[in-house]
Amino acid sequence: MSLLILGSIALDTVKTPVEEHTDLLGGSASYAAAAASYFSPVRLVGVVGSDFPQSEFDFWKSRKIDVEGVQRVHGKTFRWSGEYAWDMNTRETRSTELNVFEKFEPKLPDSYRKTDFALLANIAPALQSHVLEQMEKPRFVVADTMNLWIETTRKDLDALLPNVDLLILNDSEAREMTKEMSLIKAGRAIRKMGPRYVAIKKGEHGALLFGENEFFSCGAYPLEDIHDPTGAGDTFAGGMAGYLAGTVGGKVTFTNLRKAMIYGSVLASFCVEAFSLGKLRNLTNDQIDERYEAFKMMSQFEVGE
Ligand code: AMP
Repeated sequence: MSLLILGSIALDTVKTPVEEHTDLLGGSASYAAAAASYFSPVRLVGVVGSDFPQSEFDFWKSRKIDVEGVQRVHGKTFRWSGEYAWDMNTRETRSTELNVFEKFEPKLPDSYRKTDFALLANIAPALQSHVLEQMEKPRFVVADTMNLWIETTRKDLDALLPNVDLLILNDSEAREMTKEMSLIKAGRAIRKMGPRYVAIKKGEHGALLFGENEFFSCGAYPLEDIHDPTGAGDTFAGGMAGYLAGTVGGKVTFTNLRKAMIYGSVLASFCVEAFSLGKLRNLTNDQIDERYEAFKMMSQFEVGE
């Protein structure tokens, strides 16, 4: 089954204590689409400016990502810039230039309306709802959000939540949203706001998954070298949603969601090993499966004597 992905498409400038790169492909939809494309056909929705490189359209084509829903308009592409501290965990946003994003009104091509799965990647919640309204009742809706929307457009976010099956957010966002210190309480409280399932990401410490009477906790794939953590969350969401759409199809169970969470973590681990989408562009499904199996072995605790 296909997966519709809405989100930002950006040109990012990223600085770490050892390297700096300018105008790299970024944005929540770019990361999510690349990750999801290893599992399912993707229909991308977003906006770029006249300065956006044609080579990235060629890349999407090579990954069989449908770009009919990507608007190309006059002006500059959305730009974001961030700087990481030595721990590669703490990040400061240096600048955000909305540019063509400012007047973005997503309009779905007719061929997209019937898509079964949707990932509303990080973007203003009013736009997420606007896209959902144009779809013919998808089977499963995944949404991501960020602190900015919790702080500035909470009403729009609250209106979206009853229409979401799985909400993905990070630990600080979950705490901010619920005013709960305990992530267990926060996960349960967010479920009461609408989503049937909630995934809370804890960066290098893994992730938690909440269902009605179900709970799952996993670690993050251990890595020695992290080059650029940008987009790890978006990649995690894309991997999870792509696995569900492409592999599980119509019936999403908690067992499938647990596996999807591990695939999301595996894709995120590849993401942070290079700047931008460096590693995500040319993976093979064998490489992904190999890391999935290694993850499984590392998480088992009843092995032999
Ligand atoms: P993450 O590391 O998961 O927070 O995602 C980083 C990506 O989000 C970058 O590639 C940015 O281009 C993109 N981004 C930053 N700010 C925003 C925003 N306000 N709305 C949508 N995307 C954003």
